[in-house]
Amino acid sequence: MPQLDPDNRPWAATRRGLATQLSDIDGVLPGSVVVRHMRCGKPACACKAEPPALHGPYIQWTRTMNGKTVTRYLNEEQLARYQPWFDNARRMEELLAKLQIASVHAIESEHRRDRPTKDPKPTRHTTRSKRS
Ligand SMILES: [Zn+2]
Repeated sequence: MPQLDPDNRPWAATRRGLATQLSDIDGVLPGSVVVRHMRCGKPACACKAEPPALHGPYIQWTRTMNGKTVTRYLNEEQLARYQPWFDNARRMEELLAKLQIASVHAIESEHRRDRPTKDPKPTRHTTRSKRS
């Protein structure tokens, strides 16, 4: 079988560009971050004043690990340090989705070019696997 030149295959430039962007990602954190400011239970606290001086921020990072919800608190310096890795999670998803679309376009394009080899006709008598 002759080796295909990867640069001559459909959507090569788009796929390569997306792959390059994906390869730049060197940190990804799962889950989500919620920043909370709260009132406490003390009746005479500044958090009850008008305007209230709320406690916090409480930076809560929540993720799922082995089906369990895991929560960890971060300080502001940690949030600033790791924010790019949280942002990367979404960026990676977007890039992956685009790469999948470009790859599907590529296989469709090569599939059209590979004809006249016809697709196999669906047989009339299909064997069905028994369901238990
Ligand atoms: Zn308080």
